[in-house]
Amino acid sequence: MPTVRESVTPGRREREREGRPDGLAPVPVGAPAAPPRPGTRIIAVANQKGGVGKTTTAVNVAAALAELGSSVLLVDADPQGNASTALGIDHHADVLGTYDVLTDATPLVDAIVECADVPGLWCCPATVDLAGAEIELVGMSARESQLRRAVDEMVTARADTADRPFDVVLVDCPPSLGLITVNALTAAREVLVPIQCEYYALEGVTQLLRSIALVRERYNAELVVSSMVLTMFDGRTRLSSQVAEEVRAHFPEQVFDQTIPRSVRVSEAPSHGQTVMTYDPASSGALAYRAVAAELVARSDA
Ligand code: ADP
Ligand code: MG
Repeated sequence: MPTVRESVTPGRREREREGRPDGLAPVPVGAPAAPPRPGTRIIAVANQKGGVGKTTTAVNVAAALAELGSSVLLVDADPQGNASTALGIDHHADVLGTYDVLTDATPLVDAIVECADVPGLWCCPATVDLAGAEIELVGMSARESQLRRAVDEMVTARADTADRPFDVVLVDCPPSLGLITVNALTAAREVLVPIQCEYYALEGVTQLLRSIALVRERYNAELVVSSMVLTMFDGRTRLSSQVAEEVRAHFPEQVFDQTIPRSVRVSEAPSHGQTVMTYDPASSGALAYRAVAAELVARSDA
């Protein structure tokens, strides 16, 4: 069995490529040092590893921010459509969604729906078609900036109407570094990286940071990794604490103080078409996501 240090750090070959003894790529700067930005915050929730808590974090942070009074749009950019399901948003094949926005220049305003349970929270759903978007985008011009164009158009359009402008746009990314994720990173100003408190916690983070650096260089100079959140933390195990300590040692500026506990209520909520914020508002998971949302807000004010 690997030691914790071995389990959370990348392999030797990856370290050698990177040229850093601890094996982790330099973080492309980040808040809280980043200057405050006026207007809409656009945040990609990304980690190409599956099952680390991206969708759970995206929907619950979105709901918590809406509870705090923000106007929030969650763009479901994962063909699985789990975020749409968790918000109780219809995402059968015939509805307009992220696929149409990416591949058919459909305006976001035509695809977004308000979440019935959480006033102020809107969702652009992911339908099954989105699985084909990776391939369709390849042949398109400006293939990496379709989501950015759509978000920018929406922000500008809403500023001219009586509709309340969005304070925050969150994008729930798929578990890959393909063109959909590149679209999310090109549209965003910040990246929020969920990291599961498990063996191999940091596996692939170097690769993610490298992709983020590439997107910064080519398409989006203002992109920063503003935050990381430790998910599925189990206080009863030494492993969780050791992993958390290790991740904090690597990314002291980025990791939120608040961790997200492993909680049955968090995992049950989506099957009821709800976030944990409405499913069980007093549960440990809801309290934790509320605290994370508050930290995220505090960083924008820093
Ligand atoms: P990703 O979007 O990165 O693939 P998900 O958010 O879908 O990851 O989470 C993967 C699985 O872990 C899901 O079944 C989800 O319900 C569960 N899960 C996520 N966070 C927690 C948590 N804090 N406690 C318990 N289960 C969780
Ligand atoms: Mg997901």
